[in-house]
Amino acid sequence: MDKTFEIGSKQFVLDKDKAEEAFAAKSVINGRQTEAFNLLPLKYQWAYELYRTMKANHWEPEDIAMGKDIEQWQSDNQLTDAERWIIRMGIGYFSAAEGIVGDNILHVIRELVTAPELKLVLGRHAHEENIHADSLLYMISSLGINPHECEAMFEQIPTIKRKNEFVTRVSHALRRDVDLTIAENKKLLAKDIFVFGQCMEGTQFYGLFGMILSLYRQNKFTGIGQMFRYTLRDESNHIELLRNLFMDLIEENQEIWTEDFREELRETMREAVALEKEFIEDCLPVNSLGLSCEDFIRYIDYIADRRLEGVGLSPLNPGVENPFPWLAEMMDISKEQNFFEGRVTEYQKTSALEVVSDDEL
Ligand code: FE
Ligand code: MN
Repeated sequence: MDKTFEIGSKQFVLDKDKAEEAFAAKSVINGRQTEAFNLLPLKYQWAYELYRTMKANHWEPEDIAMGKDIEQWQSDNQLTDAERWIIRMGIGYFSAAEGIVGDNILHVIRELVTAPELKLVLGRHAHEENIHADSLLYMISSLGINPHECEAMFEQIPTIKRKNEFVTRVSHALRRDVDLTIAENKKLLAKDIFVFGQCMEGTQFYGLFGMILSLYRQNKFTGIGQMFRYTLRDESNHIELLRNLFMDLIEENQEIWTEDFREELRETMREAVALEKEFIEDCLPVNSLGLSCEDFIRYIDYIADRRLEGVGLSPLNPGVENPFPWLAEMMDISKEQNFFEGRVTEYQKTSALEVVSDDEL
């Protein structure tokens, strides 16, 4: 007997028994191991839909004009030292952070999950980290910044080093053959997915995102700001991807969702937030851009709690409010999908597939 599957505008007719068997063999972890990329029948529909959304958002750094940024960077009177410092910290931190995320996606998470549609969307995620890394090269070369200086920042600024160690500590523990039938190892993977998606990409990226977008709002570094807006749009999909993956992993392995484990994850977010606050103080040694360090610190508390709630964990600071309503317009969780309404990339125009609408995400 045959069964018809519909995916977007496409239709596939599969043998019913075989399809059901293949479907049943799919799971986030410990599913059927195969080198063949058996996407059908889709079990994790969200993963395929997110893959299509991510693909429709494709961008390349060279699409963005850097002339004005270069002029400002080279001028003697258009920028303050504090503004230049934020750009240096942004380039220095993200140059390495994007690579660390891509590496964990490709060599840890994508290696350990078994359903092909999950591997598909994770492959796209890793590629987007390549694009982000490439965009930083483009910024470095456009402004004429010494790349060794960027590398040195990552190795020598203690608050950057600590953020780095916080995430790699978890991913290194999974960089081997792990037996994912053991509850402790399942927890380790769940924690890795939580740390990278909700703590790092979801929270620790947002201090600098906010600062760079506030420069952009004042017409400073508009090329860099534009690239960060594209990056931020991508990151919001990465946060959602890793949130869905985390939720499905927990759903399929409920024995790990204990009170102790939930508390461990909240404590992990507490650590991420503390590290981000120290980092923000390094980025904003003086109050500038019309933004205070205290407001940024409160903003991080606010974002972290949204991430915790997103994965069913209780907030650390219930009732904390967003101190930057204008930033919400540009990058807040519910509006991230459509802040590009005025600019549709060529890639999207030439895509044959319909785009998943905003409210489905
Ligand atoms: Fe990224
Ligand atoms: Mn990312």
